[in-house]
Amino acid sequence: MKILLVHPETSRTRYDFLGIIENECIDLECISAILQSANHFVTIYDFQVENESYKTIFSKDTYDAVYFTGRTMQENFMLEYCAYTKHVRPSCITMIGGLHAQLNYKRLEKDAVDYIFTGYNHFHILEVLEGKNIEEMDSICYKDASGNWIENPKKAFDIKKLPLPDRTYFYEHPNHYQYLELKHAAWVRASFSCPYSCSFCHRNKMNAGTYSTRDIKDVVDEIAQIQTENIYLCDDDFLLDKNRVQTFVQEIKKRNIKKKYICYGRSDFIAKEIDLMEDLRDIGLYYVLVGLEDIRDDKLQKYHKLNTQNNNQRALEICNALGIHMMGMFVLGLDFEKQDFDMIYDWCKKHRLRHVAVSIFTPEMGLSSFKEYEDQLITDNPSHWDYLYLVVKPTKLSVRKYYFYYYKLLIKLFLKAKREGVYDFLDYNYFIQTFIKSLITGKRYKEDD
Ligand code: SF4
Repeated sequence: MKILLVHPETSRTRYDFLGIIENECIDLECISAILQSANHFVTIYDFQVENESYKTIFSKDTYDAVYFTGRTMQENFMLEYCAYTKHVRPSCITMIGGLHAQLNYKRLEKDAVDYIFTGYNHFHILEVLEGKNIEEMDSICYKDASGNWIENPKKAFDIKKLPLPDRTYFYEHPNHYQYLELKHAAWVRASFSCPYSCSFCHRNKMNAGTYSTRDIKDVVDEIAQIQTENIYLCDDDFLLDKNRVQTFVQEIKKRNIKKKYICYGRSDFIAKEIDLMEDLRDIGLYYVLVGLEDIRDDKLQKYHKLNTQNNNQRALEICNALGIHMMGMFVLGLDFEKQDFDMIYDWCKKHRLRHVAVSIFTPEMGLSSFKEYEDQLITDNPSHWDYLYLVVKPTKLSVRKYYFYYYKLLIKLFLKAKREGVYDFLDYNYFIQTFIKSLITGKRYKEDD
């Protein structure tokens, strides 16, 4: 069979992070490896790095099946492409999987969609295409003979059973898949899901809520084979198990692998494991992405973060002292007032946090807590679930005022970054002008608004 695997665009405006942060599509590359091993012909198309329309791509061959993967913000595009596919070739099988599908499959149960995969067992895609008994499969939604959707129960999948991704597509795009100034960064995944349960986060609900890990020596074997200098360890929390991280360091040293690494980690681990952080720095840890979330303990408690502001501060001091770049990520609460936005900026300045990412609190559709926010939503367009958009009415400010302080914070952070020369590869002027325009209009600026 001829199968097209697609990662749709996240936005149809310039207001995105293309050219700054682009994520290698390792799920598509894993699926590709599985399908090719059964002698199917696979084409990958990633809208992050190519710019032809879906119509053009789909017309290039007589595909028997198409598979889309994406997050909530890509829902509209995935459904639009399924509808187009069925319109021009009704016999073509349409399938959707990925993070959004795992929790929000009901939203995808449409006429133009044939199968929805709600887990990480990518072998089910092959089984569906080969006509295996779908009733016996877990983690899949499909239609019965009357067209009613059947939702088979989700089941955790052991990450060790997945093949390595076929990185042909990644290597064909050497000028893409960067993380900020780290060019052509290959994604490596050592685990599924996360054992913590922060209230705002849906990552811990992936893989049927089960944390699953690979043998760390296998992970290092994979890294050793990758022909690029930069490695993005994309686990939701790579710095979780001290022994595992120590083994990682030992194996990288033993094999004399010289690369730069990006990973996610929590501040409590960094604050406690100074020596290990130094070892990580020595083997090439360049960026550590840390969900600081807030600078106040009561807010961290509200988020069930099981962490403290003291750890956040200590972790930042350690990273700064070791020369590891911490990307500190904050959640801007719906109850924020002017002083809260100011407080975030002042904290970053005082504690010398040079890389800052701020997200507007966005209730995840797949979480049970979403119900609390449903009657306060100010948009139901899934494209707005990009954490740069206010989707719920703020509690203490008008929407206009909230955006005003949000853009003021972004402008201050960008000017600070510019002064410190942090993002010299960026078109600062474009972003700052965009933020100023948004600040004046008091609403999210998008070219298609
Ligand atoms: S915010 Fe981070 S630590 Fe918390 S559940 Fe999500 S991935 Fe895990």
